[in-house]
Amino acid sequence: MKFIGAHVSASGGVENAPYNAKQIGATAFALFTKNQRQWLAPSLTAEQCERFRAACAECGYTPSQILPHDSYLINLGHPEREGLEKSREAFFEEMARCQALGLDRLNFHPGSHLKKTTTAQSLYLIAESINMALERTEGVTAVIENTAGQGSNLGFTWEQIARIIQMVEDKSRVGFCIDTCHSFAAGYDLRTEEACRKTFEEVESTIGLKYLRGMHLNDAMKPLGSRVDRHAPLGEGEIGWECFRFIARSPLFEGIPLILETPDEARWSEEIAWLKGEAEAAL
Ligand SMILES: [Zn+2]
Ligand SMILES: [Zn+2]
Repeated sequence: MKFIGAHVSASGGVENAPYNAKQIGATAFALFTKNQRQWLAPSLTAEQCERFRAACAECGYTPSQILPHDSYLINLGHPEREGLEKSREAFFEEMARCQALGLDRLNFHPGSHLKKTTTAQSLYLIAESINMALERTEGVTAVIENTAGQGSNLGFTWEQIARIIQMVEDKSRVGFCIDTCHSFAAGYDLRTEEACRKTFEEVESTIGLKYLRGMHLNDAMKPLGSRVDRHAPLGEGEIGWECFRFIARSPLFEGIPLILETPDEARWSEEIAWLKGEAEAAL
């Protein structure tokens, strides 16, 4: 079963997200559980958590169809003590929010070395940060998203993600998420079925698809290997339809949230319907 949706708004309260997803025909969704551009947020009350669970049940979403995303401010590989500690505390709080909402995974961008430390040291700090958060929470998997490698962002090669996972102690609660735009921007071709097969074979041999806990389906505005993160609507970027047809039809991507983060919200229901159609055609 393919779970297909988009990163929907949770404004007015987390319990609104499942209804927003339902409205566009989604069988999966992503959300921020707090304002993604602020460090602090009031804790979720028991009542808010209950309303969220009830809304998910009413709309038919189970945790394996939901991919919460953490704040953009967090940098788990921060080279300086103060920034690192602040990030670690905020990340723990994001994990705890997911736990309180009954969610089983949290998607995040691994971190940046900010040109103040080595890649190896920053990857080590990221893994250590994950270990610390896992120790303080239960039932939530830390899902590392691959990046476009813009600036000093890490996690743009499969090897870097594999290295982080290797250093995480509890392998049952670490995973990763592939963003198609980021992969392409980082230099992994996805323009043809053959290119997709080759790229996902590389993922399998470096990280292992058994760790895959979600995907972001975005076309890319910039060319292969640009290291620039600009999403485009499906079929309107440099990647093109063949990649999304391949993903929708391939048995490799069953049972995990496949999430659109494409720029034109008005097209989400259309994009979801197309992906669902492709998935059904493969059955
Ligand atoms: Zn993404
Ligand atoms: Zn992106």
